[in-house]
Amino acid sequence: MQDIQKSSKLLNVCYEIRGPVLHEARRLEEEGQRILKLNIGNPAPFGFDAPEEIIQDMILNLPSAQGYCDAKGLFSARKAVMQYTQQRGIADVTIDDIFIGNGVSELIVMSMQGLLNNGDEILVPAPDYPLWTAAVTLSGGSAVHYIKDEQSDWYPDLEDMRSKITSKTRGIVVINPNNPTGAVYPREILEGIVELAREFNLILFADEIYDKILYDDAEHIALASMAPDVLCITFNGLSKSWRAAGFRSGWMVMSGAKDAARDYHDGLQMLASMRLCANVPAQHAIQTALGGYQSINDLVLPGGRLKEQRDVAWEKLVEIPGVSCVKPKGALYLFPKLDPKMYPIEDDEQMVMDLLKQEKILLVQGTGFNWPTHDHVRIVTLPRVDELSEAIEKFGRFLDRLHRR
Ligand code: PLP
Repeated sequence: MQDIQKSSKLLNVCYEIRGPVLHEARRLEEEGQRILKLNIGNPAPFGFDAPEEIIQDMILNLPSAQGYCDAKGLFSARKAVMQYTQQRGIADVTIDDIFIGNGVSELIVMSMQGLLNNGDEILVPAPDYPLWTAAVTLSGGSAVHYIKDEQSDWYPDLEDMRSKITSKTRGIVVINPNNPTGAVYPREILEGIVELAREFNLILFADEIYDKILYDDAEHIALASMAPDVLCITFNGLSKSWRAAGFRSGWMVMSGAKDAARDYHDGLQMLASMRLCANVPAQHAIQTALGGYQSINDLVLPGGRLKEQRDVAWEKLVEIPGVSCVKPKGALYLFPKLDPKMYPIEDDEQMVMDLLKQEKILLVQGTGFNWPTHDHVRIVTLPRVDELSEAIEKFGRFLDRLHRR
């Protein structure tokens, strides 16, 4: 039989977070080695349990969750999302504007597949959460990366963004709070982005899955709340703030210039219908998650585990010679820079592979987030303080050897 090749649609699609280095880590684990995994933002394996009340709700509702539901999702879940968007200052959202999905991931892909024609462009941040670039590419579009400026707390560079808008640009992706940099954007930056969308008639895609994971004095402003006249799609879900990534439950909300987007809405409705509906048991958790006790606050406020881990990881990291890092104001990650003069890294994927083999620590290389140069890594701040400290000390030891080589 002839070799069976994957679809050419996948040729330029990359998703390195689960790439070859992870496969090697799995292989080492199968050999019985202990790997410190700081590579994926999956709270549950690190002892962050989902709120008990949402688990109980799912169990209680299991008998009535056996059938398919509406393609857009359960009424009760969408109603709860509607109220949540109202609380976030997003005007004029109805039940009909809300789609529930199997995690935000499914909806990101759906939002791109329903919109893009071959050659259309979407502005995506660099560094990004790489599913965005992958979803644009898979949908026949072209992800054009705008730079976030490390010198300015990793805020989007609005001039760079403007310079990359062409007649083919359809929309701008904004991830806030940001994965992988941990930046939380101030009002002026969001206003600048909304202005560009207005001027060039672009759609705003606001990925706000970390909107409740905020440290210090950070305040999150929903992008759609500032753009009542621009078509905006806001994404959020249970994976992070409610530590229920395995339930696969997320939502997207259309707001703003909806009348102009009826046809796009129909396209999304068709894509949602083609997969019948999202996992129904997990949808029963949404109402309680959004309306119940927000235990995430206990984790991010002073004395909370997530804040303490962020603090310790950052402090340990910037003690390493030649490593600098903007202190994250939100989310679950650090994105440090490794000074190229001290650490001349030609291939950052090979570097994290060497780190894995030598020190049994798993990180993701910066280029995996569409960062253009080989001088960053992403570190997840979910492990407990002692594990984080151990991992960062070993990372320092590895870098020291790299420097002396
Ligand atoms: N968006 C961002 C910025 C993320 O970091 C992630 C997961 O890490 C997702 C979306 C996907 O979330 P979900 O589990 O809801 O598919």
